[in-house]
This record gives sequence, structure tokens and C-alpha cells, in this order.
Amino acid sequence: MKYLKIFIVFIISIFIFTSGVYASKADTLAGLRSELADLKEKKKNVDYKTAKTKSEINYAKNNIYSSQDEIKKNEVSIDKAKIEIEKLNIEIAKTKENIKSLMNALQDTMGNNIYLEYLLDAKDYADLVYRYTIIEQVAAENKEKINIWEDQINKNIQLQKDLAVREEILKNEIIKLEKSVMSLGDRYDDYIEDAAAIKTEVTSTQEYINYLVNLGCGENQSIISCISINGDTGFSKPLGKGTITSYFGYRIHPITGVKSSWHNAIDVGGNSEGTSVYAAANGIVSKITKRSSCGGNQVYVHHNIAGKLYTSSYWHLLNINVSIGQSVTRNTVVGTVGGGRNTPWDGCSTGPHLHFIIARGWYGTSCSGDCYLNWNTFKYAKSVDPQEILKLPNKGIWWFSR
Ligand SMILES: [Zn+2]
Repeated sequence: MKYLKIFIVFIISIFIFTSGVYASKADTLAGLRSELADLKEKKKNVDYKTAKTKSEINYAKNNIYSSQDEIKKNEVSIDKAKIEIEKLNIEIAKTKENIKSLMNALQDTMGNNIYLEYLLDAKDYADLVYRYTIIEQVAAENKEKINIWEDQINKNIQLQKDLAVREEILKNEIIKLEKSVMSLGDRYDDYIEDAAAIKTEVTSTQEYINYLVNLGCGENQSIISCISINGDTGFSKPLGKGTITSYFGYRIHPITGVKSSWHNAIDVGGNSEGTSVYAAANGIVSKITKRSSCGGNQVYVHHNIAGKLYTSSYWHLLNINVSIGQSVTRNTVVGTVGGGRNTPWDGCSTGPHLHFIIARGWYGTSCSGDCYLNWNTFKYAKSVDPQEILKLPNKGIWWFSR
């Protein structure tokens, strides 16, 4: 009995696992509609994040501006303090000179200056003492003045030091803020890009729904039983000539340099931009997305290959030559090679090439609304190696026919 229970759990978990991998949520119109609703919700979330990031950027920028303002004011204060010190130093020098001559007068009666004359002019001894005292007093007052000025100089020096410390703090603050503005800016760009991509997903899914409604598909009818899709027996190469430049599987990412980044496709090089890209088998165009950056223009085609469902996908396209719901054959040009100079928006391509994906099942319309932004399921469980399916030669070896 215990073993029977374990066996049942085992069977159920296999069922859940395989249905999660192979079955699709949106294999009916109703499912597609819920997928569309999910996409719209996702779009709303991304729009919200975009706005939030924008306001964070503005906040950081305002902080930078106010720090820069404070630095400017500090620098003015530092300059003022320097000028003040210069002035005081001049006063002190003058006064010191004065004291020196006073002292000379008091010490050396042979000296020759105004104080000495003042002393020598004394009418009598009492007057001389009196005058002597006066000169002593003046000297003391001058010394006092110097003390005050020196105090002021010290204060100004301290002020300069304090301002310099504050400036250092503000400069570090600005560096931090600028870094944060930069990473926020990257995030903002990502969100904008996501939003644009989701928007094309929404449009694409809506178009596919319209197409199915026009065909008269029932809300809960399975899509495969409603659309007439030309079956096929296998796949052809999507390009008339070419060579693999990057294999399917784990690799070092050509742009990010990340080791073991998953490449869910093969890259085919050796064709200039504008070269015709063909559908790899008979099928129906199920999705068209235009990603403003990584991936560029993409076409998804659904196939029925000897009773098994597949999706093929063509990325980095310069032009898209098909529309949603269009039946295609192996001779249909779905688009043209891009990824080079003529597709400057496509930030994750290092030159003209086709990123060609084959996946088991129908995706784009049937991957739980999540295969674009979070396509772990797509890339790990569902994509297969096109080199194997198409029997393509290894890197560097060319083919010249499809
Ligand atoms: Zn690629």
C-alpha cells in the first residue's frame, strides 16, 4: 500500500513536470486572452518601474546639483578667507614694522625716527618718562592688535580647512550619486526596452487572437484543431549559405564575457545584411517582436513536424517580410539578415548574423505568457540544438545549399 502511494505520487509528479514543460497554457483562445491580460499587466508593472526609476534619477540629479552648488559657494568662501588672510598679513607686517621702530626708539636713543624725535623733544625728565610710557603703551596696543589679527588668520585658516573637508565629502557624494544615476539610467533603459518589447508582444498576441477569432475558433477549442497548418517532415536550413559562428549551449558570451552563458540557438554568419532568411519548415507565423535592443527584430513560426509541435525563431532581422497568421513554406522569406551596421538598435550583435532557434512545442503564443522576459523554460527545457536537427557542419565549415 505504502509503495502504491509512492508510485502514485511519482506518476503525478511526472505528469505535473512534463505538462509544465510540454503542455501550454495558451493552446486555446481563452488561454491566449489570459496570456494577453498577463502581458498587459506586465506592461503596466514595467511602466510603473520606469516612472519610479525616472523619479529616482531626478532625485539623485537634484542632489548632485545642490552638492555642486554648495561646492561653488564653499569655493567662494575659501577665496574670501584667503583674501582676508592676505589683508591681515599685510596689516600685521605693517604693525610689526611699527613696533620694531618703537622698540628701537625705546632701546636706542641714537636711532633716527619719529619716536626718537618725540622722545628727544621732552621738556624735562618727567616729560621724558611720560613720553616713554606713551610709546610703551602704543607698542602694547599694536601687539594686542596683532594678536587679534593673528586670531582672525587662524580662524580663516581653520575655516578653509573645514570647507576643504566639506568639499571632499561633497565630491565623494557626487561621485556616488553619479554612479547611482548611471546604474539607474541603465535600469531605466532596460525598462524602456522591456516596455517596448512587451508592447510588441501585446500587439502580436492581440493580432493572433484576432486571426483566430476570424477563423471562427471556439474560446476553449484547442488552437491546433482550429487552424489549418501545413505539416512538414523536417527542417531545412534557414539560409542558402553560411557557417556556424556560435554553437548552441553554454558558451562565453561574446559581449558580456560571462562564462557559461546559455546560448539557446546557433549563430549563422557569412551573410551580409539584407540576405534572405527562409522559414525552416512549413508553418504559421505566430509572433513578431521588435526588441529595440538585444535580439532586434524576431519572427516566430509554429510547425507541425510529423505530428510533433515545434517553434522556430529568427533573430536580429533587418527586415521582417511576414505577418501574424501567415502560412509559410520552406521557400517563404520571413525576413533578412541584420545584426550589423544597419541595425544599430540591436545592442547584442557583433556583426551580421542569424540567431536561429528551434524549440519543442509552440511558444510565443503558448509559453504561459512568460517566455520573453523570463524564458528559462524556453531556453533550458524547450530549445534544441539546430545543428543536430539540421545536420550542420562545425564552425568554420561552410554550406552552400539549403
Ligand atoms: Zn546568438
